[in-house]
Amino acid sequence: MTTNQSTAARYAVFGHPIAHSLSPRIHTAFAAQTGIALEYTAIDAPPAQFAAILDAFAAGGGRGGNVTLPLKEAAFALCAQVSERARIAGAVNTLVRNDGQWHGDNTDGAGLVRDLTGRQGLDLRGRRALLLGAGGAARGVAPALLDAGVLELVVVNRTPERADALVDALGQPGRAHSRYWDDLADQGDFELIVNATSAGRSGDAGFNAPFTLVNSRTLAVELNYGEVAIPFLAWARAAGCRDVVDGLGMLVEQAAEAFELWHGVRPDTGPVYEALRAQNARLVTAD
Ligand code: NAP
Repeated sequence: MTTNQSTAARYAVFGHPIAHSLSPRIHTAFAAQTGIALEYTAIDAPPAQFAAILDAFAAGGGRGGNVTLPLKEAAFALCAQVSERARIAGAVNTLVRNDGQWHGDNTDGAGLVRDLTGRQGLDLRGRRALLLGAGGAARGVAPALLDAGVLELVVVNRTPERADALVDALGQPGRAHSRYWDDLADQGDFELIVNATSAGRSGDAGFNAPFTLVNSRTLAVELNYGEVAIPFLAWARAAGCRDVVDGLGMLVEQAAEAFELWHGVRPDTGPVYEALRAQNARLVTAD
């Protein structure tokens, strides 16, 4: 079989902005490792043009896509069918072209749980969990955290109605609750705190929340990596969290889930993660 670009199947990540996405590098590395011929590019898609750009991609032979900020909810709306986990999330991060239609899935939650329980060796069961944010990423990870056995999930979001909607979609009133950001100090302490906001992207100097949220077992997880992750990670360390993890491992694991959906082969994420981590050395692993 030839492996040149003209015969390679086309895949892409869509977002806005997208220039700094690591996904092309990750999928190209998985393809080299597994001997699968593919072309994977980053496509900038302003929200108003996303549907047309996706149509053109499909017409040009596109077989699959990843979707990132701020397009995950729009991708959900463009799919003919979605998986159960994408339906609960109301957000799609993985597109598969089947019979001339897009099938949508959401691999963010599985990617996060695999990174935490596999690579980092952390047990999520029985932890009281606080989820900050109710956007596409939070909606993807919330059901996976419940499936992973957290005791309780408290969701807090700047716009409280979105936290309420997420909790409603989870359909577990005994375990999942929404609370107001301003009431964080009254929520007690947590063994798991997940920052699924994009607040670090706004360039604000710091992340503020009461240190009383933290106890001697607290695992703090930031879904971002790189510069954007720094404010929350600095807060988590200052607050005395036992384990502090950024989103680089989740990024690699959600990509591996998507790769398996497209190609039926599970790549070895270890070497790809290690190569990326070497370039993000001053940021974080569980310790
Ligand atoms: P999104 O749908 O745009 O949601 C953004 C969330 O952040 C919302 O809950 C929003 O609250 C909140 N937020 C934004 N600015 C804030 C601020 N200044 N203070 C407090 N809350 C603020 O984005 P998303 O898709 O959920 O992604 C969230 C972050 O996770 C992004 O930075 C993304 O890069 C990262 N992520 C990483 C991975 C990975 O693989 N590592 C995967 C997915 C996402 P409102 O509802 O009030 O606007």
